[in-house]
Parts: sequence; structure tokens; C-alpha cells
Amino acid sequence: MKRIGVLTSGGDSPGMNAAVRAVVRKAIYHDVEIYGVYNGYAGLIAGNIEKLELGSVGDIIHRGGTKLFTARCPEFKTVEGREKGIEQLKKFGIEGLVVIGGDGSYMGAKKLTEHGFPCVGVPGTIDNDIPGTDFTIGFDTALNTVIDAIDKIRDTATSHERTYVIEVMGRHAGDIALWAGLAGGAETILIPEADYDMEDIIDRLKRGHERGKKHSIIIIAEGVGSGVEFGEKIEKETQFETRVSVLGHIQRGGSPTAADRVLASRLGAYAVELLLEGRGGRCVGIQNNKLVDHDILEILDTEHTVDQSMYRLSKELSI
Ligand code: ADP
Repeated sequence: MKRIGVLTSGGDSPGMNAAVRAVVRKAIYHDVEIYGVYNGYAGLIAGNIEKLELGSVGDIIHRGGTKLFTARCPEFKTVEGREKGIEQLKKFGIEGLVVIGGDGSYMGAKKLTEHGFPCVGVPGTIDNDIPGTDFTIGFDTALNTVIDAIDKIRDTATSHERTYVIEVMGRHAGDIALWAGLAGGAETILIPEADYDMEDIIDRLKRGHERGKKHSIIIIAEGVGSGVEFGEKIEKETQFETRVSVLGHIQRGGSPTAADRVLASRLGAYAVELLLEGRGGRCVGIQNNKLVDHDILEILDTEHTVDQSMYRLSKELSI
């Protein structure tokens, strides 16, 4: 392979830039030309592609977002859309593609590989919801953003003796809620992967109040339901003053943590190695701190699970 491409797709995550940088530098290190595709699959279809040099990715390792921009592109879900994309790749003489994104982006990469165009997926999403890797690029940064917010909200919760419900991202995956809740000392954590018992939550809040505890933090993943509605229910049932904070998109931005930069650098470079070995249709990850790769199809067929032992621990520590 003499010329490869790289794109970022789907929801952005902090560390995507570090991954792009690693892909570009690793390719050039091996004397392979590297082309950046802007705006994800939309830019691929439109031919929004340009050659990248060592300097093209200078000064981005510490920046959130993605220098290559990202997009959602429904047209790429059609055969015609993908054929247009492949035409562009051929026009530029690109022989393999690194796709940095979430599971939707992986689906596009799998389809491209089926069209005979080798792709390697790199897990870039704050949700940590991609099987085959212990961590996705951006998760650690998002987690630290959430913990910073919880710590600040805790100050006010303590001063005003209130209950706080904090809604965090995670439509299908509770990793952000679970890790942030555990690290932030939350009394209750609600995740999409586990049912909850409202009576038990109310009881625990009341018991805590009786033994002098005047404030509580409840973390709810957005996939469980509206934090605002949940907060209203809690206030009605307990009569404790309750406030709600929906953290929203602040969780997606910001300078990546050292852990995310290192992860992105390792995974981006490894993706290039696989492509150069002619191993398309793979996705890379990290398991037990070792670089691994899996068949994209196998990963897309696997369901993400949260660490149930951590969920149990969070309950044990917040009795
Ligand atoms: P993420 O990668 O963060 O999960 P999305 O689910 O929005 O984000 O997917 C990003 C893009 O991947 C979509 O806009 C589309 O272009 C492409 N994609 C998603 N699903 C498919 C599919 N079934 N076939 C081809 N491309 C897809």
C-alpha cells in the first residue's frame, strides 16, 4: 500500500486529533502517502480530500474536537452513496482507509471493506460503548469533565443541603454515569443496563437524611430517562429540595487527558500497521493494556456490557 486515507465520523470525541496525528505520522514514517478526508463519509462522497504532511497535524495533539471535521451522512448507508465514495478514493489513488468513530462509523467501514476497499476502525467516542476494547478514545476526558462538574455541584449541594440529580451522556451505555458516579462518590447511579427501584432510592434518601446526611448526588445516564422528570419525582416523594443539572455537550469537548492522548496515539498507529499488512475489515482496541484487533463484523454483532461488578460496588459504597 502506497497511499492511505483517514477520516473522523459520527460524534466527535476528545483525542480524535491525537489519533489523526498518529495515523499521519505513522504512515509517513513508513513512506506511505496519507490523505485526509474532511467531514466524514459526507466529505468522502463529495471528494473533500487532501494530502496531509507531517506539519498538517502539528499542534493538534492537545486539542479537542477533530481537525478533519466530522459529519453524519445518511447517504452513505445506501449502495449508491458508497459507490460515489469509492469512486473518489480511486480518483485519489487511495488504497486503504482508517475510520475513527463510533459503531455507526464502523458499519460504514465494514460496508466499504465488503465493496473490496480495506478499512480499519479506531474507536473514537466518549461513550465507551464499543466492544473489543476496554476504553474508547475520549472516554477518559469526558469522565474527568463530569467529575469536575460533580465536585463543583457537590459544593453547592452541601452548602444548601439539597439533593442534586446530574444527567450525563450515555443513550445506550452507562459507562460515563457508572465511572463518574463511583469516582464522584454519588449516592445513586442510574444506568440503562440496570433496572432501578424508585422506592428503594427514596428509602435510601430518607434513611440518609434521618442519620444527618443533608445532601445527595444522583447520577442518571440520559438513556434512563429525563433527569428533570426524575428530579421532580424525587422532590415530590421525599419533600427534599432537589435540583437538576443536565451536563450536555460540555462532556464532548475539551483538551484530551494524557490517557486519551496516549490511547489515541497507540491505536492510530496500530491501525496503520494493520492496513500496511493488508489486514482490512479490522478494528483496533486495547484490552488489559495490550493492543488488539478484531473483525469489525464480530464487534458489531457483540453487545456492549458495563462492568456489573463496578455497579455492585457503587451500591455497596453508597449505603
Ligand atoms: P457514530 O460513529 O458516532 O456511532 P453515527 O451512528 O451517526 O455515529 O454514524 C456515523 C456515520 O456512519 C453515519 O452518518 C453514516 O454515514 C455511517 N453509517 C452509519 N450506519 C451505517 C450503515 N449501516 N451503513 C453505512 N454507513 C453507515
